[in-house]
Amino acid sequence: MATEYTKPLPRPLSPELTRPFWEAAKRHELLMPRCMTCDHVFFYPRSECPRCLSTNLEWVEVSGRARLHSFTIVQQPANAAFRGDVPYVYAVVQLDEGPRLVSNIVQCDIDTLRVDMLLQAVFDDVTPEWTLVKFKPV
Ligand SMILES: [Zn+2]
Repeated sequence: MATEYTKPLPRPLSPELTRPFWEAAKRHELLMPRCMTCDHVFFYPRSECPRCLSTNLEWVEVSGRARLHSFTIVQQPANAAFRGDVPYVYAVVQLDEGPRLVSNIVQCDIDTLRVDMLLQAVFDDVTPEWTLVKFKPV
């Protein structure tokens, strides 16, 4: 019997703007917005390019390859729902294509984590409606 997922789920502030990201995650694909005017790939999703303010945007699939930009090992989660997960890794990762995003590092020995280490995106199907993008060491 499946265990009910009881942790907080994403609540996008702009569901229309972010829908392609979440729909792709459900397919285990990582999509990022790209500016067709200046070729900038960015995250979080916005209605204008943060570099040139163009609204000429598209969604592109990215590799999922990344480097660990920064991280902390959480021992005392701010939200009690995550108490059973400690210690866990809260991280900023930088995709090969440029964007940085906040995520978790999973499937790892936390004592071996190092800034700039190579990572790969993995997809955590937490409910039928939500898949979270996380990263694991390569
Ligand atoms: Zn641009």
